[in-house]
Amino acid sequence: MTRVNNTFETDRKAMIARIKEEARFTSSYTGRKEPARRVIQAMNKIPRHEFVDRTQQRLAYIDSPLPIECGQTISQPFIVALMTDLLDLQENDVVLEIGTGSGYQSAVLSLLAQEVYSIETHEPLARSAQKKLHRLGFDNVHVYTGDGYFGLPEHAPYDAIMVTAVAEEIPHPLLDQLKPGGRMVIPVGPRSGQQNLMLITKTPGGEIKEKNILPVAFVPLTRYHKDKTMPVDLDEPTIDPDQDKEGEINEN
Ligand code: SAH
Repeated sequence: MTRVNNTFETDRKAMIARIKEEARFTSSYTGRKEPARRVIQAMNKIPRHEFVDRTQQRLAYIDSPLPIECGQTISQPFIVALMTDLLDLQENDVVLEIGTGSGYQSAVLSLLAQEVYSIETHEPLARSAQKKLHRLGFDNVHVYTGDGYFGLPEHAPYDAIMVTAVAEEIPHPLLDQLKPGGRMVIPVGPRSGQQNLMLITKTPGGEIKEKNILPVAFVPLTRYHKDKTMPVDLDEPTIDPDQDKEGEINEN
């Protein structure tokens, strides 16, 4: 047991070294030579091997995205570090994440902010991420299932918003739910084609500023529902189990 844990500790150190190296390689694009110390410390604490498939635990710390359930991916560690760093989080910030996926990015955010609200469109992924995050003690992460395009007005405005799936354009509801002075990171572009990681800032006066950071490749922000429906809080015990099918969860 100790040997296994030590092995992961070594792997985690190697992952951090690789992140710092990638940060240097990309600094002429990102304007950042290294992620903030707090970001590195947070990623050094999270057991990434808990967020990948059991059969892929030995690969958990390589600097690559990996497949997770429902045909989705857990993002590459360097990209997680960069996106987190760009948000410049303060410890009492309230953050909205779109695309919970494995829950790994939510766990990183949870160590740097006060509350994290995360929305996942695939209900099985949302449920398994929520279970894992609770088991590991990340109690300030609140997982919802539904279409993150519309954000989560009930806890808005947010100090920071992170979108972990690529959108063809920046969703307006998310801009509306960003606090003046707030920051949003989002990959923008076509499903297969040139995608760009963008940093959006809302000035204290409410003006929106956009900046291209880095070319990236993300899974798409999917839109199952034409009508606007609110995401469902998985901690709410009122969900009808008959609605427990992908694509139908929003309809209640
Ligand atoms: N942050 C995740 C990355 C997951 S990949 C992690 O650390 O593992 C992006 C995720 O966005 C996928 O799980 C995908 O199902 C989800 N997604 C796609 N479209 C969405 C939408 N409209 N609303 C919410 N989540 C969405």
